[in-house]
Amino acid sequence: MKDQSTDPDKGCMSDFDPRSLPVDEARERILAHLAPVDGVERVAVRHALNRVLAEAVRSGIDVPGHDNSAMDGYAVDSRQLPDSGERCTLRVAGIAWAGRPFDGTLGEGECVRIMTGAVVPEGTDTVVVQEVVERDGDLIRFDHPGKPGQNVRSAGEDIAKASVVLNPGKRLQPADLGLLASVGIGEVSVTRRPRVAFFSTGDELRAIGETLGPGEIYDSNRYTLWGLLTSMGVEVLDMGVVRDTREATRRAFRVAAAAADVVITAGGVSVGEADFVTETLEQMGEVTFWKVAMKPGRPLAFGRVGNAWLFGLPGNPVSVMATFHLFVRPALYRLSGQSDPTPLTLRVPCRSRLNKRAGRVEFQRGVLEPGEDGDFQVRKTGPQGSGILTSMSLANCFIVLPLESEGLRPGDIVTVMPFCELN
Ligand code: AMP
Ligand code: MG
Repeated sequence: MKDQSTDPDKGCMSDFDPRSLPVDEARERILAHLAPVDGVERVAVRHALNRVLAEAVRSGIDVPGHDNSAMDGYAVDSRQLPDSGERCTLRVAGIAWAGRPFDGTLGEGECVRIMTGAVVPEGTDTVVVQEVVERDGDLIRFDHPGKPGQNVRSAGEDIAKASVVLNPGKRLQPADLGLLASVGIGEVSVTRRPRVAFFSTGDELRAIGETLGPGEIYDSNRYTLWGLLTSMGVEVLDMGVVRDTREATRRAFRVAAAAADVVITAGGVSVGEADFVTETLEQMGEVTFWKVAMKPGRPLAFGRVGNAWLFGLPGNPVSVMATFHLFVRPALYRLSGQSDPTPLTLRVPCRSRLNKRAGRVEFQRGVLEPGEDGDFQVRKTGPQGSGILTSMSLANCFIVLPLESEGLRPGDIVTVMPFCELN
C-alpha cells in the first residue's frame, strides 16, 4: 500500500505542490481498499433505522391487496355513469367499510356507499365522490360525468407481489420501515455496524472540567468526532487523549486496532517533532501518507494496523471535519455495505465574494438557504481559518472551490456539498 507519490519529509507548505493528490483521487484510492465488514445481523424493523440492508427484500403480497376506494362516496358500475348534461339515479344497496367489505350482490341500477380504503365491491369499478351526490333515502342522484376507474386505487399499485421492495446496500430511512411493515415484514438482515475507535493526540489538550494552563486548550475534536460517528450509526469507542510520545502513540494504536474495524486519530499526523501518528503507523502497519491538494486538511494518513483501517486526520478542528466528511464518511459507508458513498454536490449561485489562491481545492464553509426568489443560494460564514470551529457550527455546507479557481464574485455559480440537514 506504500504510496510513492508523496514524501512526508517534504512538509506540505506549497500550494502548488505537484505531488499533492487530488481529493477525488485520494477518496477513490481509499475506497478501492475497502469492502463491507463481515457479519450480518437480523434485527426487528424498529431497530433497522439507519442500518444498511444486507439482502434484497421481496414482498409476499400485493399492496394494496385489493382495488379500494381513494375517497368517501359511492361505488358504481362505470357503464351507469351519466353522459355530460344527463342525470343519473341509483339505489344504495349497502355499505362498504375499510376492513369490512360489502358482500352482497348488486342488481341493475344499484350502487354501494363506500368509505376510503374499503374494497371496491364486485360489479363496481368507479367511485363517485359524495360531494357531487344528492342523497334522498336510499336513492342517490348525480350529474357529474366521472371517468371509469376514478377514485379507485388498484391492487398492487404501490408494491406488486414478489417484487423487490428494497435493495441490498440501502440505508434504511423512516419510509423504509413503513414500507417493510406494509408488506408484513417484521425483521430484516442488516450489515454489522462497523466499530470505530478514535482518539485525540496532543500534549496541549485538556479535558472539560480541568483548568487550562498556559498554552493549553480543551480537546474539542473528540466531541466533534463522537458526534459525526454517532450520527452515522456506527459503534464508537472513545479512547481519550493520547500524549505526544512514541510509546503512548504505539500503545494507543495497539489497543484501538485490537478493538475496532477503523481507528481515527486527530492531530499529530504532520511532520512536526511532536507528530507521531504517521511514524507509528509506518512502524506498526502499512501507511499511505498524502498531502491532499485541499484546504483545510492537507496532511492525511491512511493505512492498516493489525486488522483495522486507520485514518490519521489533521488536528485543526475544521480540518478534522472536512477530512472526515470527504474521506472517512464515504469509507464508513462502504464498510457498512452502503451503495454509492460519494458525497452529494449541487450547483447554486453564491452571494458572497470568495478569495482563493489557485493550486488546491478549498472547502469554505457556507450557508445554503433559499433566497428571496425561493431558489437555493449560498453565502459564506465569517472567517475561514482551519482553527475556526464556529465556521462549521454556522455552516450547513462546504463551498467547493476547484483547484484552478482564483475566487469568485457575488452571483457566480458555485458547487456546494451539504454536510448536514438543511433546516
Ligand atoms: P496538530 O495536527 O497536532 O499539529 O494540531 C494542529 C492544531 O490543531 C494545533 O493548533 C492543535 O492545538 C489543534 N488541535 C489538535 N488537536 C486538537 C483537539 N483535539 N481539539 C482542539 N484542537 C486541537
Ligand atoms: Mg499535535
